[in-house]
Amino acid sequence: MKIEFIRNATMKIEYNGEIFLTDPMLADKFEIESFAGNSRNPTIELPCSIYEILQGVDTIISSHTHQDHFDATAMDIIPSEMSIFCQPEDTKKFLDHGFVYTESIDEKITRNWTTIIRTTGHHGTGEIEKAMGTVSGYVLQAENEPVVYWAGDTIYCDEVKQVIAKYKPDYIITHSCGATLDDSGPIIMDAKQTIDVCKIANNSTIIAIHMEALDHATITRKDLRKMADKEGISTEKLLIPNDGEIITFNT
Ligand SMILES: [Zn+2]
Repeated sequence: MKIEFIRNATMKIEYNGEIFLTDPMLADKFEIESFAGNSRNPTIELPCSIYEILQGVDTIISSHTHQDHFDATAMDIIPSEMSIFCQPEDTKKFLDHGFVYTESIDEKITRNWTTIIRTTGHHGTGEIEKAMGTVSGYVLQAENEPVVYWAGDTIYCDEVKQVIAKYKPDYIITHSCGATLDDSGPIIMDAKQTIDVCKIANNSTIIAIHMEALDHATITRKDLRKMADKEGISTEKLLIPNDGEIITFNT
């Protein structure tokens, strides 16, 4: 398995002979409105061209369709014959947009000997969660590949714990910038919650993404690393890749 960490939740995952692109937010810097009144979004450019990002992609996997996950640029630029896996809530949106090869994953789907299991979570708590709507994550499994759990836009919650216990992922990808809206509290994981994942997932490597790209973030990569150091979480246990970084995983 090889992953190119592009920006926010956009990753190019080479897995079991296929290339999956996750959550394409392809806008230029500042092209999207502000979420928290601090700056327009995204707060940083893509590390490479959109052409390079889309090159070789077999399937897009979508966690949900908030603007920082499937933006208008992606909707317009991605060819309509692209295959998309999404949560049931978003099927109509993609089909209406002309993506004829959209398939929703209710529980799981097996394609080309790769199984993709949809997981759930909470995009915040209380009223804010209701406003944010349904979000998904996914577990990837294949015979000669590591088990990967991409948690998506969720806080640390029972669902996350259950997925870790059930699928024993080798790698857990968390959205960890501690984003908040008004005084919502975190709507995705923050440093503490990411470290909580590290602590319960004894046999997993945690990979924190969704960092330093949006104006409602409350922690930086440096903040997260600092707290991890304090808690005795090693740089091998918790990876915090930079935009554009490519990592090959051997197990
Ligand atoms: Zn997000």
